[in-house]
Amino acid sequence: MYREQIARLFERSAFYRRKLSAAGFASAAAVGGLERIAELPFTEKDELRASQAEAPPLGAHAAIEPREAARIYSTSGSTGAPCYIPLTRNDLEDWRRIARASYSRSGVRAGELMLTTYNAGPFVAGAALDAFDSLGVTHIPMGTGNTDKVIEALRRLKPQTLVATPSYAMHISEKAEIRGLKRVLVAGEPGGGEPAFRKRLEERFGARVYEVMGIGDVAASLWGECPGQSGMHFSGEDSIHVELIDPDSGKPVEMKDGAQGELVYTHLRREAAPLLRFRSRDHVVVWVSECKCRNTALRVRCIGRTDDMLIVRGVNVFPSAIREVVGRFQPRVTGAVVVRPRRRGVRQDPPLPVVVERGEGDISHEELREAIRTALLVTTEVRLVAPRSLPRSEYKSKLVDYSEAEGG
Ligand SMILES: [Zn+2]
Repeated sequence: MYREQIARLFERSAFYRRKLSAAGFASAAAVGGLERIAELPFTEKDELRASQAEAPPLGAHAAIEPREAARIYSTSGSTGAPCYIPLTRNDLEDWRRIARASYSRSGVRAGELMLTTYNAGPFVAGAALDAFDSLGVTHIPMGTGNTDKVIEALRRLKPQTLVATPSYAMHISEKAEIRGLKRVLVAGEPGGGEPAFRKRLEERFGARVYEVMGIGDVAASLWGECPGQSGMHFSGEDSIHVELIDPDSGKPVEMKDGAQGELVYTHLRREAAPLLRFRSRDHVVVWVSECKCRNTALRVRCIGRTDDMLIVRGVNVFPSAIREVVGRFQPRVTGAVVVRPRRRGVRQDPPLPVVVERGEGDISHEELREAIRTALLVTTEVRLVAPRSLPRSEYKSKLVDYSEAEGG
């Protein structure tokens, strides 16, 4: 399957023909089999953006014309100009099948009600909607625009499952007491796997929290957690190849229990916009051993975005990991945290400035600083601020704020 896909890239994708030739691979035969994939160059998100600017509308990496696509999604454009993501009928069917596997791992079953709060529209999250239909659930699509309406629907229709981003799920739980849910499925941003955050969300809803993770350019809902709650299982076995790499060196990292690195994806049969060694920027810990649910599919938990990673005197620090440590002090803190580096860029000098919202009761900055130092081996300067004084978003919360940084 992989060799056919490489042949297809040479034949139909000007971008990959050029990229592979430049790397010394003049033909599909020269690329060889999957065991040699680590010799090939990575594909970066920036390259896809440049490719679409250079060869609009779908880009030189696309292997089809727009009229051959069954659907064309757009990315949210949160980090630059919007990107188009085309899918053929076969691609869509693949996405639907993968998303169905990811969501059904949580135990969602036909005959249940599921309330979702995806502002799908043009975004790839919309692909999950097809999967919900195929699960046989009663789907209640709500969006995030009007939280009072979401709360009313939760109370009146009494669904078993709520689907939301982790921060929106928390937002709902802070606005109203909701009882009767069986599970809360969180997706769309990292955070749902952080133990302190998850515990708080589970307590507030009186329901189990399971995580789903996808990546727009690869597949919308690629990983899904089971009731074992020990990482998200991979659901793309037949159509996507996964690698783990060291984000600094780009070298492969061996997949074994507890290994950490960035996920890299290769489509094995994507037709419209096939990607080769696409860097996800998702930094994860992996497990390969059998899960409590008896399944042996690869599992991951997202630690943070490689893009957010800071290096403080040689130590890799993820702002989401700082949030996790601070979150353990709830309710003495609210859980809202922002890292405000003093300078731009990945490398930072200690102490790293961290702003934390106070909650109920006494908390000292020394206590927090010490806990972060013990857990993450990084020296911080913790500043405490009033509850609800840090900016909150209904969709995605930002963990690093460079507004107080100097250039460089
Ligand atoms: Zn499992």
